[in-house]
Amino acid sequence: MNACLNCKKTEQEIPLLQMRYQQADVFICPQCLPVLIHKPANLAEKLPGLENVQPPQHEH
Ligand SMILES: [Zn+2]
Repeated sequence: MNACLNCKKTEQEIPLLQMRYQQADVFICPQCLPVLIHKPANLAEKLPGLENVQPPQHEH
């Protein structure tokens, strides 16, 4: 069963967003999406390579 890469909630518990990363399908829930957006390096443990991704410049 598919589960959020960060919190491990399954698609039975919460809607999951499907993404592609390095030729694989990855899933993340809406609650964890901000982590991927703002602090992608925090997910480097689950998605190797993200430690090099810098968050975009904030405009505010
Ligand atoms: Zn999650």
